[in-house]
Amino acid sequence: MPNVVLMGPPGSGKGTQAARLAANHSLRHVSTGEILRRAVRDGTDLGRQVENILQSGGLVSDDLILDLMRETLGRLQAEGRGWLLDGFPRTAPQAEGLVEMLADLGIEAPVVVLIEVPEEELVRRLSGRLTCTADNHVVARGEAEDGDPCPECGAPLYIRSDDKPETVRNRLRVYHEKTEACTEILGAAFPLVKVDGLGAPATVTERIEGVLASDH
Ligand code: AMP
Repeated sequence: MPNVVLMGPPGSGKGTQAARLAANHSLRHVSTGEILRRAVRDGTDLGRQVENILQSGGLVSDDLILDLMRETLGRLQAEGRGWLLDGFPRTAPQAEGLVEMLADLGIEAPVVVLIEVPEEELVRRLSGRLTCTADNHVVARGEAEDGDPCPECGAPLYIRSDDKPETVRNRLRVYHEKTEACTEILGAAFPLVKVDGLGAPATVTERIEGVLASDH
């Protein structure tokens, strides 16, 4: 199984798909958003540095994220672990940094999977979801409430502070302004496949599994 870079706008189901694919293929799920949220919850130096940025839906600095990822991928390489990236890269400098970092570390080209979902569906999904504190599992509001146990792992569910409607629009704008450029840079360096993200999560997983199993 190749290493995977999972790309897609906020609300595309990237986190859910990342957790499933990583479990199915024993890949380490590396979610920069989850690492940063945990740092905020734990009140670490990193957490204090990024708390306000996460709250606003803006992006943490490229230097900070690149240092974090260089350290993480170097460690996984030393452990011989495969990985799946979720939420990184998010800007052109991060995408260029990733290409350079993999060459430096002697890691072979990952497959880039881009999950595509129309904008109205993204806003609808993001404004009505609960996330679990343990592993990024996502449940629609209505099926459960704030504080209920996650149906997948039992950890408490909460409403992410950046899932409020104003912040949702800002996150989508940031995605269009900054993250779409990444896809072009990654597509020039690595094999890239696009997958339709509409439909039940299990259906989307099957589509991704299908493209990962075929030549790309
Ligand atoms: P996510 O869980 O991927 O939606 O990330 C949540 C928040 O964490 C984002 O809105 C950013 O504030 C921050 N973040 C996560 N990954 C990155 C990244 N690669 N570059 C900059 N900021 C990030």
